Amino acid sequence: MIGWSIAATVSLVLVAVFGLPALSDRVAPRIPLSVERRLGDAVDTQVRAMLDTGRSEKPLECGAADAEKPGRAALEALIGRLEAAAGLPIPFKTAVVRRREANAIALPGGHIYVFEGLVTQSRGPDELAGVIAHEIGHVAHRDGTRSLLQAAGLSFLFGMLLGDFTGGGLVVIAAKTVVQSAYSREAESYADLYGVNLMAKAGGDPRALGAILKRIAGASDPGLTLLRDHPATKERVAAIDAMAAGLVTPFRPMLSPPEWAALQKICG
Ligand SMILES: [Zn+2]
Repeated sequence: MIGWSIAATVSLVLVAVFGLPALSDRVAPRIPLSVERRLGDAVDTQVRAMLDTGRSEKPLECGAADAEKPGRAALEALIGRLEAAAGLPIPFKTAVVRRREANAIALPGGHIYVFEGLVTQSRGPDELAGVIAHEIGHVAHRDGTRSLLQAAGLSFLFGMLLGDFTGGGLVVIAAKTVVQSAYSREAESYADLYGVNLMAKAGGDPRALGAILKRIAGASDPGLTLLRDHPATKERVAAIDAMAAGLVTPFRPMLSPPEWAALQKICG
């Protein structure tokens, strides 16, 4: 009896460690976009709840107040340029949220959250656009969906192990997975490659992503932990610089100076 229990546990652990990543790699690209969007919507509510610390009297999402509306319009102009260049069959739903960290996250199905800290730490619209382009890479490669599938599989396996089949915690686990977006190093470098190319395609500065990562990696301010999940290693920046070097052509900044000034005030 004990022997069988141990064997069952060991096999579940083996499935969790080796089987799930391989399975979700195969399944994620086959999930229809309509299903992916619904998946993203389900997780979105939970993600918003996690992002909203409730410390501010203002709403989590910036851009709704009258003084913030020009910033919202500038954000839409910037996203529109990236969206047109990306040509993905997924419409993006982008929002700037009141969070101090310099970070951005992408959910399956096209929800993109840009933290206020990233807007204030960016020197110019192309640095901001570069990070968003990297996030679009995660959407295009369906990295969020892949993580969700893994989280769902894990939750199911733990359910088998512990006899809890309610699955109530599933959405919470899934949302945490997306917020922490602990993607593999490989997924990160593919998103970098995508982001650099997308910036070039959009006619922006493909070097800007490397520039902001380099600056923030060298900073000691905890508010500058850009993409805590995205370790900005020297090698990563060097790889981005090498990719971008071959793509630099005369570029047009992603926003005009007045638009950029407006975007910087999107949270009031
Ligand atoms: Zn990333």
